[in-house]
Amino acid sequence: MTFHQRHGLQPVINARGSFTPLGVSRSSPQVAHAAAEALGQFVVMDDLQAVLSERVARSFGAEAACATHCVAAAITLAVAASMTGDDATRIAALPSTDGLPNRIVIPAGHAVDYGHPILTDIRLAGATPVLAGSERGCDTAQLEAALAAPDVACLLLVSSRLVRGEPVDLAAAVAAAHRRGVPAIIDGAAQDWRIDALLATGADLVLVSAHKYLASPTCGLIIGRRRLVDACRAQERGIGRAMKPTKEAMVGVLAALDERQRIDVDAWRDEQQRKLQAFIARADVLNGLEAVELPDPSGMPFSRLALTVLPSHPLASATRLAEALRRGEPPIWVMEHAAADGVLILELVALRDDEVHAIFERLLQLGRAADPGQR
Ligand SMILES: *Cc1c(COP(=O)(O)O)cnc(C)c1O
Repeated sequence: MTFHQRHGLQPVINARGSFTPLGVSRSSPQVAHAAAEALGQFVVMDDLQAVLSERVARSFGAEAACATHCVAAAITLAVAASMTGDDATRIAALPSTDGLPNRIVIPAGHAVDYGHPILTDIRLAGATPVLAGSERGCDTAQLEAALAAPDVACLLLVSSRLVRGEPVDLAAAVAAAHRRGVPAIIDGAAQDWRIDALLATGADLVLVSAHKYLASPTCGLIIGRRRLVDACRAQERGIGRAMKPTKEAMVGVLAALDERQRIDVDAWRDEQQRKLQAFIARADVLNGLEAVELPDPSGMPFSRLALTVLPSHPLASATRLAEALRRGEPPIWVMEHAAADGVLILELVALRDDEVHAIFERLLQLGRAADPGQR
């Protein structure tokens, strides 16, 4: 019996990337073993946090780090920490922010929705988001205007392919926050390959989902200045209780970091290119589709596959093709955010060759003829 049969679940091919509704990522056997071993042990959780802090800080040249349930939690806790510091009374009072600076500045184009609105993470701490600039962009002057308001607690920036408008110069934005005397926090949830680059902007805290490309059990990492990291940890006696990390996740993160350290990055990158280029090289037999390489817009070290659905395709629509892929056996999920422009985007990073092959075969079949009953 397969895993899916045993649990009465449907297998699925996930070409949609580190997508939470599909289980985000696949841990390696070594990471799974480390997490399983932790499940059978008692540990002093503060000691485990200290070990993780030391390990993460050493890897990325930061002062300190801590683990939390996920990055949604890390955003709420980092916002809380920027309002309360380590003051026990203020921490216990949250989400009431009476008497505290509680406005959180965020560029308008960074108010992303990654499954829910990031503004909800801010509000959960009792804070009030303040949007700077517009959807089209946010320059340093617009940011400074928003930061000049009274009661500002911190600047929140997002590094993600989900941001909209002209790119914000992160280092300049961080410098603007520091001129105003407030910390700058970067949500780099899916940017675990770029932690060094995000810390190099001068950001006080960088938040990363270890379960995305690092492929650990679900765990958020808060990395940066010790004083703020400690203030995030202190929230566990207040709103943070519901956001705590598990021992198995933290031990899984340590194993995943060991694995990442051992990786030959050039070889890894070559392997991703091989998978992608093998697909593209054969794609001229796919009727009504055009396949090209799409580099990651945020600078992650891999590309995705962009499939343009031409009018000559039997389904003649990217949305209908995505639906047909999802209706098949097993369902195939792809990125649909560009479907209105006739483009489906596929991420192959986490997929085995047999899964990439299955996607190719399905596309071949769907390009031959539309099922008239489904039009
Ligand atoms: C995935 C994601 C999050 C949420 O991360 P979780 O660890 O799943 O809570 C936050 N921000 C961005 C930009 C993301 O991509």
